[in-house]
Amino acid sequence: MEDDRVNKQIFIQDYTSNVQNWCKDFQNVCTSLEFNDAFENLSIIDMDLFGTKLNEYAAEKWKISVSSKPKLRTYRLFKTVLTPEPYVDCCMSRFKRSIFAKYRCGILPLQIEVGRFRGQSVQQCVCPLCKNDVESEIHFLFECNSYDRNQFLHETNFINVQSNTDKIKQCMTGNYQKVTAKFITQFWNERQTILLN
Ligand SMILES: [Zn+2]
Repeated sequence: MEDDRVNKQIFIQDYTSNVQNWCKDFQNVCTSLEFNDAFENLSIIDMDLFGTKLNEYAAEKWKISVSSKPKLRTYRLFKTVLTPEPYVDCCMSRFKRSIFAKYRCGILPLQIEVGRFRGQSVQQCVCPLCKNDVESEIHFLFECNSYDRNQFLHETNFINVQSNTDKIKQCMTGNYQKVTAKFITQFWNERQTILLN
């Protein structure tokens, strides 16, 4: 770009400034991706290579972040790759999508999440319905005897799936997301009704 272009002049001003600005942020990204020479010399960057490295960098940062957050204890079991999920594009009511997204991210206010805010230990977060176990996401969807899940098991075709970890992996991926969202919302509504009465 010629030096007399307005955007070039703005860029140079930004680039030579000592304040924290877009250029400084971009410099940090370039350093992380080993493109600091290109940044220092203002040379042209291979955008395909830069894009590939940026995706790898973002995926690595995401993995570290996911593994360090207690609320993502269940999310870690089924989400291993940083890609958009099919359920965000499929036809689903706003309420159902919200409940499903909260469940996935460990922020649906089950006892294990409520207790985390109250500073309780995991063992103290007992299910308020059956009082048999900790009310985790797994307990809520697969174990709690307060819900009738025959139809859920039928529609998700769990006959050959043994462990709850395998079940949740199946429920939270691809084709089963929509039906799982339906039953999570149904169980959640039942739970609220029981607790309010
Ligand atoms: Zn229970």
